[in-house]
Amino acid sequence: MAEKRPEPVVAVGTIALDTVITPWGKAENALGGSGMYFALAASVLAPVNLVGVVGEDFDHWDELDRPNLDLEGVATLPGKTFRWGGMYKENVNLRDTLYTELGVTENYELQVPESYLDCGTVCLANIDPPTQLKLLESMRKPEFVVADTMNLWIDTDKENLLEVIGRSDVLILNDEEARQLTGKLNLIHALEEIQGLGPRNVIVKKGDHGAIAALGGEIFAIPAYPLKEVVDPTGAGDCFVGGFAGFIQRAGSRSPAVMRTAVAYGSATASFCCEDFSIRRIKNLSLAELEQRVEFFRELVHFD
Ligand code: AMP
Repeated sequence: MAEKRPEPVVAVGTIALDTVITPWGKAENALGGSGMYFALAASVLAPVNLVGVVGEDFDHWDELDRPNLDLEGVATLPGKTFRWGGMYKENVNLRDTLYTELGVTENYELQVPESYLDCGTVCLANIDPPTQLKLLESMRKPEFVVADTMNLWIDTDKENLLEVIGRSDVLILNDEEARQLTGKLNLIHALEEIQGLGPRNVIVKKGDHGAIAALGGEIFAIPAYPLKEVVDPTGAGDCFVGGFAGFIQRAGSRSPAVMRTAVAYGSATASFCCEDFSIRRIKNLSLAELEQRVEFFRELVHFD
């Protein structure tokens, strides 16, 4: 019997042209952005309705023709697509931002197509908190909200960010951001403090050290996939969120067991992202490959 198609998630985030330099090479004006990485990753598991904006210079439409990806919510405005440049050194956990050019995102007034408005699962990939709030406020019945953020918004717009966090069921951020947000060095203290801000579930990503999560009253941890070669970690965090939310949507349940498995899907999805520049690997990721890597995780952490 054919599997029932999961309901779509709605997501907002940046759609970018990234220039990334690593010790192993360079990609110029390559497709990226938090919303794009999220959408490609989540669409391996469930349909995604993406909301965002590009400029008239955007010419990647051909690459985005995929069965699980709806782009009706992506507006094209006169001007330039959001551009971001980043550089990694030998330690790929450390990155310098070379530039951020807001382009058309600067005057973007988010609009959600009618056909998206009933989605229950709302994914707020990393973008300015007012835009995240606008998506949330546009939706008719948001029942499960997954949010991501970054250090920039903790520094520059904490008030709106706290509003986003207060309305989220799951917050996903990295260890540095969790410490910055809470002022707590100890990550268990940071997790608890963030839960106190609203979300019942908080996941802290730790780069190639995996992730630690507070899922309701339980602490859960997952390693990173032991990759021998990291080519470009850009977008790995967004892909983590995509794998996590996509799995929950596919499972159609938010039981504690599903939430844990979803964290493993997040970690597995992120690892694929690091295997090539830009979206190259994540764009070609199959469900079978992803499931196989999650199986590997079961073996990796199994002991009697
Ligand atoms: P990550 O490696 O998970 O932090 O995600 C990197 C992606 O985030 C890149 O594709 C960038 O285009 C995008 N990005 C960089 N800066 C921002 C920003 N200020 N807001 C939203 N997305 C951004």
